[in-house]
Amino acid sequence: MKAHAAAEGAQSPRIRMSEPGFPSVEQLAPYLERIGASRWLTNRGPLVEELEAAMASRIGGGCHVSLVANGTIALICALRAAGATGEVITTPYTYIATAAAIAWAGCKPVFADIDPGGFNICAESVERLVTPATSAILAVHVYGHPCDDQALRAVARRHGLGLIYDAAHCFGAGDADPSVCALGDFAAISLHATKMFHAVEGGAVVSNDLETKRRIDRIAGFGLESELAAPELGLNGRMSELHAAVGLANLDSIEREVGLRRQIAETYRTALAGVDGLILPGKAGNPLADPVSYFPLRVTAGEGVRDALADHLASRGITARRYFFPLVSEFEAFRDPAHPASESTSEAWSRSREVLCLPIHGRMRSRDGSCVVQALQAFFTQAG
Ligand SMILES: *Cc1c(COP(=O)(O)O)cnc(C)c1O
Repeated sequence: MKAHAAAEGAQSPRIRMSEPGFPSVEQLAPYLERIGASRWLTNRGPLVEELEAAMASRIGGGCHVSLVANGTIALICALRAAGATGEVITTPYTYIATAAAIAWAGCKPVFADIDPGGFNICAESVERLVTPATSAILAVHVYGHPCDDQALRAVARRHGLGLIYDAAHCFGAGDADPSVCALGDFAAISLHATKMFHAVEGGAVVSNDLETKRRIDRIAGFGLESELAAPELGLNGRMSELHAAVGLANLDSIEREVGLRRQIAETYRTALAGVDGLILPGKAGNPLADPVSYFPLRVTAGEGVRDALADHLASRGITARRYFFPLVSEFEAFRDPAHPASESTSEAWSRSREVLCLPIHGRMRSRDGSCVVQALQAFFTQAG
């Protein structure tokens, strides 16, 4: 029995990094009945519009939301609407989708470094990379922690650049009003199942006025204004009514999801506060104030310790993720041999070798949190 359980544990972790919340049949039914009654399945239907309005009101700041098929398409639409051409300065410390979206928008990603001791793109590093070919900055609020918007906005203004935020990690995280999702010329949100708030698949572009929102909607609708007119290039960025139904039902219970995650984060923070060689969220060097979307540990105990810790947790059936390793600029598709990432973005390089994100989701029980804590403590006791 024991051996069987151990073997099973090795194949399917007991405590996963994330487990998408999925609404109960009762929660979903009213939305599905509306789809059945209207027979409106996709192409900007009533549930999509309702979810757009609900998200815009939660974000605040008088913003407008356009729902699209996924976060990558949200980024591509935002880049197109911002008029991005030539070079777009971004961070290598992100998910590969950020740079892929730049390339699919017909531009070249140029990688700036991140803030010393931080996770987000460094405004000074951005400014050093501006050339006559630069058209925009695509910054990422990593783990939902806000970028230095003032500094980035100043750089954008000085050089006449667009400022777009990848806010994939942000919806529902943090209590700022307006939300971090309202910053920039545009923000792109992901509603993928691994994110805290999701619609199974989905994305959203946040814009500042109705005319711009309509333009995003048009780009996401093949660029068509009418049957006879396509003023600019578009694509299929549609979100279906079924996806919007899941989004609406999940939005009904987002406070509960956030509350459950806060409890897990508190368990981690309390129990790991005294462990040498770890910098927890909320501390200098890891200023993430409200680690509900992700719980990033900086493992500063030495080279290779982070990876050994990840292996140690995996052997106990706990999945922790090395977000973000490797750096996007280390992938073959984005590598530039003339500028090795270890040299040109040394701060991002260090962070990518240090950070381990612990499991955090609303399906974790408090004993799961304790189990992760015990595994971490055991590792550092052995190592120490
Ligand atoms: C998840 C994610 C994306 C992509 O979102 P999809 O909905 O999966 O296309 C983009 N950027 C970041 C930082 C992400 O974490």
